[in-house]
Amino acid sequence: MTTPLAIDALLSSRVRQIEVSGIRAIWERAATLTDPIDLSIGQPDFAVPDALKDAAIAAIRDDHNGYTMTGGDAALRDALRTQVADEFGWSVGAEADSDVIVTSGTAGALTLACLALLDRGDELIIPDPWFVIYPALATIAGGRAVTCDTYGDFRMTAERIEPLITDRTKALLLNTPANPTGVVLSDVELADIVALCAERGILLITDEIYDRFVFPPLGNSAPTPATVSSDLLLVRGFGKTYGCTGWRMGYVAGPRLLITEMAKLQQHTFVCASSIAQQAMLAAPKVDLSPLVARFAMRRDMVVDALGDVTDLVVPEGAFYAFPAVAEGGEAFCQRAMDAGVLVIPGHIFSSRDTHVRISLAADEARLEQGLQILRGLMR
Ligand code: PMP
Repeated sequence: MTTPLAIDALLSSRVRQIEVSGIRAIWERAATLTDPIDLSIGQPDFAVPDALKDAAIAAIRDDHNGYTMTGGDAALRDALRTQVADEFGWSVGAEADSDVIVTSGTAGALTLACLALLDRGDELIIPDPWFVIYPALATIAGGRAVTCDTYGDFRMTAERIEPLITDRTKALLLNTPANPTGVVLSDVELADIVALCAERGILLITDEIYDRFVFPPLGNSAPTPATVSSDLLLVRGFGKTYGCTGWRMGYVAGPRLLITEMAKLQQHTFVCASSIAQQAMLAAPKVDLSPLVARFAMRRDMVVDALGDVTDLVVPEGAFYAFPAVAEGGEAFCQRAMDAGVLVIPGHIFSSRDTHVRISLAADEARLEQGLQILRGLMR
């Protein structure tokens, strides 16, 4: 037997700088509980629509099992090009100003974007609170995440962003509707951010994975800066929308030069998005999402009714989370909640602070109500 390889000495400084997602650690602790009320999950609690399941099964049977083109299956890519052109009036295509590629989840698109944009020491402005992978994405690409404190109303506004821009800032990563706060930025706020980015020569990356999850009084889809400008990177996904997070499907639209460079990186990393899932997504336009969104809106109202008078809660306008303040701190509160059989996530997982907790609305109404009443009791 040779001595075991000293793997530790071989690890890159890049990987050493990244910590394991705190959400996993909580799930590990939660594994010891019997039948907890799980309000920690960041994916829809409904089944994938049959139209999509059938299309995925047909894709396997019809031999769509090999690689697709790097930028995506031709039919899906064309459908997405048309969708982006129709929705925002962009000129999209292989020869146009903007283009679209299919990616391995939204996370895949964000990874390619960071790799294509950031050099050592370059800065990426992200919101605080952030979606868990944002700080690590900058680190993986060799850059640095600079956080924009949005506490109070959780709105990432041009006014809050402006002082953070330096000569090392390459891009700004925005998430609306937001995880973990449920905040949806308005058309006016977004137009101001677009103007700021244009003025300072930085790229706006807009993560709109929850674009279809918006609640009354807002309309059918969230406001997006893509209606004001095509000089940005629009990242959207299918996983949350259709309950198929494991299929790893997303897409990204933006300036053709950047999309071409991202496609080059995709060729050398992910290779392509899942061929089966890409075929299935061709059936996505058949799905009526309105009953589902109405249920999430109802659950949002349940949270506001149950907790609105016992905690400081910014009313979620979209996505499927609420982020109430907890006086004792997120970690301590989550431990007490876990002892009472309810799983929620402490704010520090998404933030430099630990003053809030994230509650997911992706649980059936009876369980959600039961959980909310327990949380209410703990917050009083
Ligand atoms: N962005 C946000 C804001 C998210 O909440 C998530 C998933 N939780 C992602 C990106 C990653 O999504 P995907 O599964 O499509 O990679």
